[in-house]
This record gives sequence, structure tokens and C-alpha cells, in this order.
Amino acid sequence: MPELQLPVAIGPLAIFRQGPEDLLIKWLDGHHAVFPFDYLRKSCPCAGCGNKHGHEAPKEAESGGCGSEGCGDGGCGSHQQGVLVQGASGPSDIVSLAAIGRYAVSFTFGDGHGTGIYSFEYLREICPCEACASSRQAG
Ligand SMILES: [Zn+2]
Ligand SMILES: [Zn+2]
Repeated sequence: MPELQLPVAIGPLAIFRQGPEDLLIKWLDGHHAVFPFDYLRKSCPCAGCGNKHGHEAPKEAESGGCGSEGCGDGGCGSHQQGVLVQGASGPSDIVSLAAIGRYAVSFTFGDGHGTGIYSFEYLREICPCEACASSRQAG
């Protein structure tokens, strides 16, 4: 298993991989929180996942609709569930990270999904730390 290198200090935040399942995000204002990979995967804001800020309606990606010959007979390996990208330890494992301009990052997960663009604002919004969670509930 190759050691994963994630870039740090992107825009207004710094991102570190912390252990096998967590990402530590530090904002420049001193706030920091641990985001489990699984949490980030579920919070994917892309249209395919159907997440909209705070609206929890995860939709399973369509499966079996690849249309290529052999697909559906088990012959199309790239469209089967459970197929992980190289180096991933699970479907929610973050295998790479890219800066999107100066306002967002995108993650590629172990299941190959990588179309979600997580703006810094969105990441802050879904911050799972106690302080942010309690302030969301209060609001
Ligand atoms: Zn998505
Ligand atoms: Zn927080």
C-alpha cells in the first residue's frame, strides 16, 4: 500500500490525512476538525449524489446502465460495485485530492467517485466538530 500524499495548505485551509479513515482540516482562522472519509463521501455535493446543503437525500448512482456489450453479464468490471481504484482501502477512502481554484477542493474516493466539488464554505458548513454541530442545531 503506497503512502498517500495529500497536498497541504490549499487556499484558506490546510488538509492532512490523519490515520486510515480521517482527514484533518485546519482553517486559517484556527478552527480545525476531523472529517471521516465516510462522512465526506456521504456529503458529496455533486449532482449525482443529490446532496444539497443540509438536505439529506442520498441517491444511489445508477448501476448496470453502462450499455457496453457484456455489461450485466459480469463482463464489465469497471461498472461493478465494490471495484476500488488502485491503492484504495475502501469505497470511502480518499485516494487523491485536488484544489479547485482558490475556493474549493475535490476528492477522489476509493470507489472512483470524484465529481464532487467541496467549496471551503461547504466544508465549513458540514464541519462535524462539536462546536459547529451545536451551533447548527441552535440555529
Ligand atoms: Zn457525488
Ligand atoms: Zn467545526
